[in-house]
Amino acid sequence: MIATLPVTGVFTTNCYFLIDEQSSHGFLIDPGAEANRLLRLIEQQHWTIEKILLTHGHFDHFGAVPALQQTLDIPVMIHEYGKTYLEDPGVNLSRFCGPDIRIHHANYFRDGDVLHLDKSNSLSLQVIHTPGHTLDSSTLYSPDHHAAFVGDTIFKGSPGNDGYPTGNGRWLMHSIRSKILQLPEDTVLLSGHSAPTSVQAEKWRYA
Ligand SMILES: [Zn+2]
Repeated sequence: MIATLPVTGVFTTNCYFLIDEQSSHGFLIDPGAEANRLLRLIEQQHWTIEKILLTHGHFDHFGAVPALQQTLDIPVMIHEYGKTYLEDPGVNLSRFCGPDIRIHHANYFRDGDVLHLDKSNSLSLQVIHTPGHTLDSSTLYSPDHHAAFVGDTIFKGSPGNDGYPTGNGRWLMHSIRSKILQLPEDTVLLSGHSAPTSVQAEKWRYA
């Protein structure tokens, strides 16, 4: 199952849980803020979160990680190009919006990797590197759920912003057209800051 919890810090960001219903183990994707609220939900639902996954290294997608880690102590994973973002508040943009946020210990995935839970093999996510909004942006695709966690690469009705440091409009359009919109048409696109959409609903805009 997929559960969405919009969390608000400086911005409001969609935080997602991808949970294997049999084992109640799962992934937490883009915990941008409100660590205590996320921890309460995890406890209420009796979920065991095995890994925190980040679609990219902007602070509004990982701001809750330092506080979550004090309780959960689980791996945080991001694309291999994400290291600089996690470690540099000028690059992850936290410096311009409030206190500096840094994460020094992360694990890294690459394009083509398949991420599994330890407890269950029934739930997997394919990593698709989709640079453009940032250099490290990744789409995490779950064929079983017909869903893709696209971060800030594409929103309902519009492409993501390419105006931040390391953004690149040409790469962004390539990532959207040649990668995300090539997924099956019924794939639901779950973004960082908009309502859900689908490959089918967005395809015509980029023809
Ligand atoms: Zn972003």
